[in-house]
Amino acid sequence: MKPHHFPKKLTAIAAACLVVAHAVTAADRPNILFLFSDDHAPQSISAYGSKINQTPNIDRLADEGIIFRNSFCANSICAPSRANILTGKHSHLNGQRDNRDTFDGSQVTFPQILQAAGYHTAIFGKWHLRSDPTGFDEWMVYPGQGHYYNPDYRTPEGTKRITGYSVDVTAGLALDFLKRRPTDQPFMLMCQFKAPHRQWLPGPKYHHLYADEEIPEPETLFDDYQGRTSSAAKHEMGIDEHMVMTFDLMVPSEGTFDWKRMNAAQKELWKSTYDARNKATQPENLTGKELVRWKYQRYIKDYLRCVAAVDENIGHILDYLSESGLDKNTIVIYSSDQGFYLGEHGWFDKRWMYEESLRMPLIMRWPGTIQPGSEVTELVQNIDYAPTLIEIANAAVPGEIQGKSLLPFLKNEPADDWRDSIYYHYYEHGFHGVPRHEGVRNARYKLIHFYHTNEWELFDLEKDPSEMKSQFDNPEYAEVRKNLEIELQRLRQNYDVTEPVSMLNSSRAPRSVK
Ligand code: CA
Repeated sequence: MKPHHFPKKLTAIAAACLVVAHAVTAADRPNILFLFSDDHAPQSISAYGSKINQTPNIDRLADEGIIFRNSFCANSICAPSRANILTGKHSHLNGQRDNRDTFDGSQVTFPQILQAAGYHTAIFGKWHLRSDPTGFDEWMVYPGQGHYYNPDYRTPEGTKRITGYSVDVTAGLALDFLKRRPTDQPFMLMCQFKAPHRQWLPGPKYHHLYADEEIPEPETLFDDYQGRTSSAAKHEMGIDEHMVMTFDLMVPSEGTFDWKRMNAAQKELWKSTYDARNKATQPENLTGKELVRWKYQRYIKDYLRCVAAVDENIGHILDYLSESGLDKNTIVIYSSDQGFYLGEHGWFDKRWMYEESLRMPLIMRWPGTIQPGSEVTELVQNIDYAPTLIEIANAAVPGEIQGKSLLPFLKNEPADDWRDSIYYHYYEHGFHGVPRHEGVRNARYKLIHFYHTNEWELFDLEKDPSEMKSQFDNPEYAEVRKNLEIELQRLRQNYDVTEPVSMLNSSRAPRSVK
């Protein structure tokens, strides 16, 4: 870990201020701005070393703050990750095991605690938890996944449709909130973009970004799934087989998901862009690897165009914070609900415990506390967000929270007894061909158990970062395997995991698993 020093002089000044103020009033606590996107893979953020794009505004947060290099989710899918974040608990305890569950908003969440502690709380954008948001003074959230064009927002007063591109509209709601919020309270604002979730619909401004470029392909685009259990080969998330020409790839252009929602001007621009592109490349005449390469280019460019809109809007929000002076007392966080396959293993989508979907971006800026340019390599997880934000708000962290506060890293204090491994459990049985599985990852190794077929995989991430060959049956790894098996059992016990046995007996039928 690169050292991140908190200047001693500032510590003294901060301590003196606290004494003078006598009691810390609500207004003295920092504002919290949580900028969040959907399916934004760290390998498409330049601060994380992207080889395929640049994200100057997200990078700005990293340059002025702290970047967590080993940040992971607990269950790599939209609704469960959001529940992990809100509750600080693993899925089996917060009840949000998959996207079909309805979130129990009566349980303890960090927004409720911050609201009770005197914060003015708001959420705009993607919520995806079915039940109404709780713990928010204001909320405007998409029904379900939401739409890219002219999105609808659920509000306490009913549903409203707003004309525009969803990333711009949601950022606009956040900016409007920042300008009109009550100033006698600190705020906690969650600004949650739909982008760059499937289907990848770029906004008007970015239709032509990357048009004349070839985006580099990942090394594992043509993975043959040898060297692992039967699970990976049974996937239903292949760019080759499962990416749909119409609504995923705009062939024909009117096949796009939001076509019926677009107004005449949006339709005209969309059609002129994709009709011309389809005519020039004639994908209907391609087959085999040539077709996969074409699909990858169409997919990755549209995905990155959605990312560009997220990055641009983060820039607008950061600019406003600077102009208004709010930046000085506002913690800004950037994260996304899980990682994503950008062609690695021939895939799109997420769910697996493999690295690309296990990882989450996590960057924070807090002037005066976080030393600019800091890096953390310890293993952190999305269950850690809630206790961190509760501590920042000077509130008490409830005992039921399973995550650990990241505050020591932010303050450059020793993080004693930090975890050596993380626990992972994916439950959404069979969708995209991914079976339920659980596992443990430490700094170097990963053990995965596909318990319906009782198949195991063990990866040496130092020697095999792309996870192409399981070492589970390799006698040279016998000791490593034994230790990981013990660690997995320890984590299960520590986190009160009783599944998979109870899930195997669940009345919820698995979706067809090939
Ligand atoms: Ca997601």
